[in-house]
Amino acid sequence: MPGKNLSREEAQQRAGILSVDSYRVHLDVTSAVDPTAATFRSTTTISFRSSAPGAATFVDLLAPAVRSVTLNGRALDPATAFDGARVAVDGLAEQNVLVIEADCAYSRTGEGLHRFVDPVDGETYLYTHFEPADARRVFANFEQPDLKAPFSFTVTAPAAWDVYNNAVHEDVTAEGGARVWRFAPTKPISTYLTAVVAGPYHVERDHYSRKLADGSTLEIPLAATCRKSLARYFDADEIFTVTKQGLDFFHQEFDFPYPFGKYDQCFVPEYNIGAMENPGCVTFREEFVFRSKVTEAAYEGRANVILHEMAHMWFGDLVTMRWWDDLWLKESFADFMGSFSQVEATRYRSAWTTFANRRKAWAYRQDQFPTTHPITADIRDLEDAKLNFDGITYAKGASVLKQLVAYVGRDAFFEGARQYFKRHAYGNTVLGDLLGVLERTSGRDLTAWSAAWLQTAGVNSLTPQLTTDAEGRITEFAVAQDGATPRPHRVAIGLYDRDPAGALTRTHRVELDVHGARTVVSELAGLPRPALVLLNDDDLTYCKIRFDDRSLETLRSGLGEITDDLSRALAWSAVWNLTRDALMPTRDYLALVLRFAGQESDIGVLQSLHQQAKTALDVYADPSWRAEGARLLAEGALRELRAAAPGSDHQLAWARFLAQTAGTDEHLQLLRGLLNGSARIDGLEVDQDLRWSLWLALASNGAANADELNAELTADNTASGKQHLTACLAALPTAEAKAAAWSAVIDSDELPNALVEAQISGFNQPGQRELTAGYTDRYFGLLEDIWAQRSIEIAMRIVGGFFPRYQTDEQTLADADAWLTGHPSAAPALRRLVLECRDDLARALRAQACDRG
Ligand SMILES: [Zn+2]
Repeated sequence: MPGKNLSREEAQQRAGILSVDSYRVHLDVTSAVDPTAATFRSTTTISFRSSAPGAATFVDLLAPAVRSVTLNGRALDPATAFDGARVAVDGLAEQNVLVIEADCAYSRTGEGLHRFVDPVDGETYLYTHFEPADARRVFANFEQPDLKAPFSFTVTAPAAWDVYNNAVHEDVTAEGGARVWRFAPTKPISTYLTAVVAGPYHVERDHYSRKLADGSTLEIPLAATCRKSLARYFDADEIFTVTKQGLDFFHQEFDFPYPFGKYDQCFVPEYNIGAMENPGCVTFREEFVFRSKVTEAAYEGRANVILHEMAHMWFGDLVTMRWWDDLWLKESFADFMGSFSQVEATRYRSAWTTFANRRKAWAYRQDQFPTTHPITADIRDLEDAKLNFDGITYAKGASVLKQLVAYVGRDAFFEGARQYFKRHAYGNTVLGDLLGVLERTSGRDLTAWSAAWLQTAGVNSLTPQLTTDAEGRITEFAVAQDGATPRPHRVAIGLYDRDPAGALTRTHRVELDVHGARTVVSELAGLPRPALVLLNDDDLTYCKIRFDDRSLETLRSGLGEITDDLSRALAWSAVWNLTRDALMPTRDYLALVLRFAGQESDIGVLQSLHQQAKTALDVYADPSWRAEGARLLAEGALRELRAAAPGSDHQLAWARFLAQTAGTDEHLQLLRGLLNGSARIDGLEVDQDLRWSLWLALASNGAANADELNAELTADNTASGKQHLTACLAALPTAEAKAAAWSAVIDSDELPNALVEAQISGFNQPGQRELTAGYTDRYFGLLEDIWAQRSIEIAMRIVGGFFPRYQTDEQTLADADAWLTGHPSAAPALRRLVLECRDDLARALRAQACDRG
């Protein structure tokens, strides 16, 4: 649709002549409870000024119909003014009032105003999600982050519902069979940050207050909501505890009182991402309401998200990037602060280990794609923006901020943040605004640092180079750096040796700046050569680390004996990178997992080892060895499952891993036994979500039938149950099951986002390569139509999810290359997705070659 993909130039032009005084938005969602009603009424009144009287501009709106457009009392004809994506307005005055009345569509893709009906009780729930540019699916607006304004929402909703918004409601009145909720004006915020959550949500309330430096008391009412049918699982106390710890921490460090009044946190169904930082009305995926046992890593992950979103109240909401090029300004910062505040203010003290192990793996992966980009990106338009919520913008950016704190010091960093908030409150910024304050507070020139870290793409590898004398003492220790552009790194180097009990502990640590291609570390000369050299110890910088031969031997025989959690996590991360880079045979990596994962005390690290081991087996292992590898992993999983402490997180993690790797009759029978109660593992509760994991294993191995799977839904007739059942049915190893899953996603756009996801995940099973091989041609044939016809969220899932990633052979790589060569002018965002999938495939082939030896 022309005009849907707003460009940076258009946004700049519009901001050049416009400033917005206020929005008044009235939504009537009383039709939501009628499943046949596709639309709701939306009326927007925008008061804005133009510095170019007489000029023309446009308002963004994605709606099935516009009923009327009135500019300064003059009616414009919707038939000519509205093209499906924009409303053209001309003859602007200095002061303007524009009223647009439209019928907007309820969403099933999670973009705009999403409507969900709970299968448990038939209740209807609504919520909005707008970032980067979907407010225009709900009301007419200037959809760009730098045209901030106060918003006043009025929502007419079914009488039994509650409605939440960024602001508090001023009054609620009955009107016919409905209730009208009038909300106070918000502070000036960007369109993508507005939010409405409406439905018969269950709510829990609490309160936060804090004495401020000026003697006044800040009062913040807290609320947490979820669907009624999830209420019995809702641990709001834990959520409020983390929330208050975060508010304490951010007030202490940021010295700027929380600006948005109250703080609601709404857990909503079929949510596309983790959470969204709408000021005063944060939305979260409801999978954070745990209905079955989860590990401590899941609680840690949720707390991290709560704190990440809270950091955004200042970084992102109070001060906002001008355009999506500087998305990192808010995401890198929030990602960094999420872990930082978690370690300093909550019981989750291993957040930096998780960060090193999980977040950074995301960044390293993304940064080695041919599509990687500098942290400060070049975002031409909204499709570019949508794809940039990636491992660079979040995880690499946060890693680089961690490096910046090591470089300028904590005090200078936070003092810079404080000045930044005060100077730019309610405004928009670019990179230079942040660097400017940090240069003042640190006294350092950050030009070179910024050029190397923020404006240059790619990851460096650091390798230790040691020479020793006849007695085994170090004569020279150097750090070699490769990568296209060497960077300045603040690093710690750890030397490890075995203590009398055999544990690997750190005997020396030096911290220094590494520059250029080779840096000699004179402090280490004269020391005995250690068993293990760990570069980037304490994880200060962002790099891949390599080992000298002796260190690698030490890891092979003793990785699990490194006593420090973070050091061990760094070693795991490094051997994973070696495997991905085809420098360590996959079976060697899996041997390390089989040997040492059972000793891994950090549950988050263990769970990521499980994930990585599964990926290694499915795509990096030599295909002729794959069956053997699978058997070894499943046997290892069963051994550790039986050895784990009854009822422990580790026991649950190993049970899930057994389900993912089981393939032999013996193992599948055990899974079935766990399901029907004829087998037991002491302390392992086979609760609902674990049951579905076991069913998925049976289904994908052809050891369960559709009747049995459907029967499980009777016991769990919930939204989550429906998603699991959909994935299980799509995973059945029959041509019919594959055809049905493919068709459900491709031949119709009726499925909601959550079921699209379930169909795709069930369809693409690593053990079913022959069954799905025939879809490769169809996939490449469909790409451009899918991109043109589906919403970007759904199109991204189809393009990424149906890519034949388990067809790891030269032919599939050639097919991908042929598509790329044959479609030079396909949408850049689509090409980017295909290029990344293609690159994963090429990497898999290299790793397989290494594994073959
Ligand atoms: Zn964020």
